[in-house]
Amino acid sequence: MNDAAQLIVSDAPREAAERVNLLGMSRAGLQEFLVGLGEKPYRALQLMKWIYHQGVSDFSAMTDVGRDLRERLSACAEIRPPEVAEEHISADGTRKWLIRVEGGSCVETVFIPEEGRGTLCVSSQVGCSLDCSFCSTGKQGFQRDLTSAEIIGQVWIAAAAFGLPKKGGQRRITNVVMMGMGEPLLNFDNVVTATDLMMDDFAYGISKRRVTLSTAGVVPALDKLAKVSEVSLAISLHAPNDALRDQLVPVNRRYPIRQLLDSARAYLGAQTDSKRVVTVEYTLISEVNDRPEHARELAVLLRDYPCKINLIPFNPFDASDYRRPSRNAVSRFWNILTEAGLRVTVRSTRGDDIDAACGQLVGRVEDRTRRSERHRAARAGSPVAGAA
Ligand code: SAH
Repeated sequence: MNDAAQLIVSDAPREAAERVNLLGMSRAGLQEFLVGLGEKPYRALQLMKWIYHQGVSDFSAMTDVGRDLRERLSACAEIRPPEVAEEHISADGTRKWLIRVEGGSCVETVFIPEEGRGTLCVSSQVGCSLDCSFCSTGKQGFQRDLTSAEIIGQVWIAAAAFGLPKKGGQRRITNVVMMGMGEPLLNFDNVVTATDLMMDDFAYGISKRRVTLSTAGVVPALDKLAKVSEVSLAISLHAPNDALRDQLVPVNRRYPIRQLLDSARAYLGAQTDSKRVVTVEYTLISEVNDRPEHARELAVLLRDYPCKINLIPFNPFDASDYRRPSRNAVSRFWNILTEAGLRVTVRSTRGDDIDAACGQLVGRVEDRTRRSERHRAARAGSPVAGAA
C-alpha cells in the first residue's frame, strides 16, 4: 500500500466521526451552522424541510439547494438517525421499535394507532435514574441521556414508516408523548430541542397541544421549562399523599406533591393560551393506591386544580410483584373521581403482547449504576421485593 492510500484508509473513519449531525439541531443552531459556512440563514429552513418533511438523509437529493453547497455539506455534515435493531408489531396494531443508539445500548419507541389519531411514545434517556417502584425502565438502571438527534430520530424512524401529520394516510403520527424510557426533565436541553422540532412547522409541525412531556416531578427543571417551552404537560402523581408517593416515586422525597402541583400550575400560567390543563397520570396498583379512600383523598387534592386525570391500570412485568387492579376497582376509582366533578379517562392497555405498554419498556441498557444487578439480587433474596 502506498502512502496516499494509507492516508485515505486511516482518515476515513476519523472524517466520518467529525461530521456534524444536522438531525436534531435546533433551528437556531442550524442557522448558525449555515452562516458559519458563509450561507444565508434561510437555508436552514430549506434543509429542515428536506430532513423532516421529506425524510431525506442524502444531501444530493436536495434539489433546491445549490450544488456547491450540497457538496460542501456532504463533506462536513450528515443526517444520521439512530439504527433500528428490531421491530415488533402487536395484534392490536401497536408497533414497537428497539432503537440502537451510539455505544450499543437500545431504547424503545412505540406507535399506538387509535381511531382518528396515532400516538408516538418517545424515550428520552437510556434507562432511568429515578427508580419508581412500579416501572420496569427504572429496574434497568441508568446509562446516559439521549442526544437530541436520538430523540427526534425516533420520530424520524416512525415517520418513515407511517407518514407525517400533515400527509394523508390513516396511520399517521398525530401526537407525540415523551413517555418512553427515561425522565425527560433530567435531559433538559436535548428534550427541549427535540420537542421544539416536533412542534416547529419546518420540522414536524405537530400542535403544542399534541406534544406532551411527562415528568415524575423534577420541580426545579419544570420551573425552568415554563420559561422556554410550550409543550403540554403531564405529571406522574400516582398517589394522593406524600407518605405513599414517597414509596412509589422516590423523587417525591425531594420535591413533594404540593411543590409539584404548584410548579405545574405555574407552568400553565406561563403559557400563552389560557385553556390548557395538566394531565395527571395515576397508575392504579392493586391494593396499593387503588382503594376508595385513595380516590376520595385524590378528589380533595385536585379539587379546583386545572387538570384531567388519566388512570393507568398497572402493567405487570417480570421483576415486579405488584398486581393490576380488577376492572371493578378501576371503575370504582373512576366513579368516585367523576362524581367529585373531576375529568377522568382510563388509559387502555395497548401492545402488551409485545411489551409495549406503559412501564414495560426496557430496551437494552448497559447500566452504569449497577441498579439492575441490585434489583436482581434483592429479588433472589426476598420473595416480596417490590411490594410497597
Ligand atoms: N419519566 C416520565 C415518563 C415515564 S412513562 C414520568 O415519570 O412521567 C409514562 C407513565 O407511565 C408514567 O406516568 C409512569 O409512571 C407510568 N408507568 C410506569 N410504569 C408503569 C407500569 N408498569 N404500569 C403502568 N404505568 C406505568
